Amino acid sequence: MRPDLFEAPDYYNLDELLTDEHKLVRDAAREWVKREISPIIEDYAQKAEFPTQIINGLAEIGAFGPYIPMEYGGAGLDQISYGLIMQEIERGDSGVRSTASVQSSLVMYPIWKYGNEEQRQKYLPKLASGEWIGCFGLTEPDHGSNPGGMMTNFKDMGDHYLLNGAKMWISNAPFAQVAVVWAKNEEGRIHGLIVERGMEGFTTPETHNKWSLRASATGELIFDNVKVPKENVLPNKSGLGAPLGCLDSARYGIAWGAIGAAMDCYDTALRYSKERMQFGKPIGQFQLQQKKLAEMITEITKAQLLTWRLGVLRNDGKATSAQISMAKRNNVDMAINIAREARQILGGMGITGEYSIMRHMMNLESVITYEGTHDIHLLITGLDVTGLNAFK
Ligand SMILES: Cc1cc2nc3c(=O)[nH]c(=O)nc-3n(C[C@H](O)[C@H](O)[C@H](O)COP(=O)(O)OP(=O)(O)OC[C@H]3O[C@@H](n4cnc5c(N)ncnc54)[C@H](O)[C@@H]3O)c2cc1C
Repeated sequence: MRPDLFEAPDYYNLDELLTDEHKLVRDAAREWVKREISPIIEDYAQKAEFPTQIINGLAEIGAFGPYIPMEYGGAGLDQISYGLIMQEIERGDSGVRSTASVQSSLVMYPIWKYGNEEQRQKYLPKLASGEWIGCFGLTEPDHGSNPGGMMTNFKDMGDHYLLNGAKMWISNAPFAQVAVVWAKNEEGRIHGLIVERGMEGFTTPETHNKWSLRASATGELIFDNVKVPKENVLPNKSGLGAPLGCLDSARYGIAWGAIGAAMDCYDTALRYSKERMQFGKPIGQFQLQQKKLAEMITEITKAQLLTWRLGVLRNDGKATSAQISMAKRNNVDMAINIAREARQILGGMGITGEYSIMRHMMNLESVITYEGTHDIHLLITGLDVTGLNAFK
């Protein structure tokens, strides 16, 4: 892969809306991505391997629990800093951002929000430092967009719970030490359980042959009569709203992350368009290529404004789930379209691993599907504005 010459676009001077702390946090993450991710990521994506050596670095830039209070090892930052970290990491690779998102919003968040003090003390500092990596088991083979239909279940055996079922498409599963698993009790109510690697009957086979998020490890979680200690149930929230609350936080991070992937594709295509000569001119001088670049920067700028405003609302505790759905859907769609257009600007070179664009494009095919598909988020907006439920 070529040297990382990334320069972040800021067409509407959005930096003026950021605090000094936001810029410090973002610039540290940006520098770290240039130094530690860009030189190795193409190789790891080609090998379909997660680069485990970056885990400490992710912890150091605050990517594990950016908004979790410092008393639990988190970075104690606000929602905009959290978003900016996700933006910068995904500028490097969506798979690496997925690992950070899962750790922060799908594992640390539920333990912090729905767990008791003992659970917080036991798990959060180790997850924040990267000593432990976590995963989040909601999706099942027969229940993706409709997680409420899940079959995974646990029974009260007196001194412990007995967990049975299977989850699939679980990011970080193959190497995670801890899994936050959503399962139904005997009354059919959904609860979160903390399952640890090494518990008898718990296995995590890896999912192979992905063309997308190749630098992120994905796997299954299989529970075959797993004895889960009673103290491992998250006591403070149950029902489908509990996992959905985690997804709100992760989807918000994805909305920022997608901007990072789009920025990288745009910046690469812009630079290439000024250097590549055809018909005696740089291709950036042709109107058709300018149209692509002009539309890209317009869409990136709109997404930045949408997402910054969503961050302000989240900081004030006012952002709704439907607002988060809109930003996730819009920004991932925006990024995937920019990746496709940017790939064309690079002609044949666009399909090679010399440049990041094709990797981003393939990664974004997962990002547009996970954490609620493009269509599901549209239906959430539809429900919000009409009050009429298309899911029933
Ligand atoms: C790489 C990767 C990593 C993932 N990581 C995790 C993870 O860490 N943890 C986890 O729990 N899950 C994870 N997922 C799972 C992901 O969230 C699901 O794939 C997603 O929710 C969609 O579920 P599905 O694949 O079963 O598709 P389905 O639900 O079968 O959907 C198939 C199609 O039908 C459409 N559809 C479904 N219902 C409706 C409807 N009512 N109206 C209109 N259209 C509809 C969908 O939009 C989609 O286009 C991951 C997925 C991938 C690909």
